[in-house]
Amino acid sequence: MANLTLRLKWSSRVLAYTFALGLVGVLIDSVFVVFMNNIILFTDLVHWVTDSLLELTLLLGLYFASRLSRRYPMGVVVLESTLGLLIALTVVGVYFYVFYDFLNGLLYAGGAATVNMYSSIATIAGTALTVLTYTTLRRGFEKYNVETLRYESTHALVDVLAGVTATVGILATSITKSTALEVLFTVVLMMFILHSVQGIVSDSVSLIRGENLDYKMSLAVMNSIQDLLASAGARVKSVEARKLASFYVIGVEVYIDPLTTIRDAFKLRRKIVKRVIDLYDSVYHVDVRFHPEVSFERVEEGERSRGEELKARRKR
Ligand SMILES: [Zn+2]
Repeated sequence: MANLTLRLKWSSRVLAYTFALGLVGVLIDSVFVVFMNNIILFTDLVHWVTDSLLELTLLLGLYFASRLSRRYPMGVVVLESTLGLLIALTVVGVYFYVFYDFLNGLLYAGGAATVNMYSSIATIAGTALTVLTYTTLRRGFEKYNVETLRYESTHALVDVLAGVTATVGILATSITKSTALEVLFTVVLMMFILHSVQGIVSDSVSLIRGENLDYKMSLAVMNSIQDLLASAGARVKSVEARKLASFYVIGVEVYIDPLTTIRDAFKLRRKIVKRVIDLYDSVYHVDVRFHPEVSFERVEEGERSRGEELKARRKR
């Protein structure tokens, strides 16, 4: 199988494609909401919007991880995730305001449900899009073996159920004119929104609070590179394994002899990255930073002799 960088690049292309499918879903639902508004369809639209937000977050995370030679921009990811959280909460706030309005309307005006049967065209098209999204993600996972695609395909499968629920809800309500059914299906669809928002909230809250640090994984990674460091005369300063939704980003800090050549340092870095990525399927990115060994910095006098010693060693 191709190396991880390529697999991540191809996977982010798959995710970009399914994100575009999601936008088509948002567009179709929006048009139908404008012309034949009903609460079931509106709930379905809000679900599409929150899912697109979730997918965008994953897409960006994967894209940053695929640039293996650059540092993982954790700050940008935290910012983007905070923004995603704010937008998601705003969308949900607006949704509940509309839902409250709808309930009020039912209480004071009463009467039969006015759901247009033809608004099911939107949810049927949406379900077809979701099936396409599911098969695309599933095939992508089988091809590139990148965990994030499997994670997203499971969500897409759940969303097929949401599409079917919305369609059945619209048809049943338009035929029976029952407001009870309208409310029932709306509440069921709300669960899918909460499922999606819960993903956004838990990811960004753990990112913002720094709770995504995985100590067990950090320790495992530290142990797995011990021999590489020892043979290069280096030692670990710290290892931080951070979990982002469905994958890990590892930060390794290493104390190294300040007289090490850049070539040797790069060689060591390559070895560390390769070792960690080969060992763990869910590690998508490894950042290695070097620091001069503290004990060398303090010994001003010894520096020269240490340099001579290294030179001598190299000649041998
Ligand atoms: Zn969903």
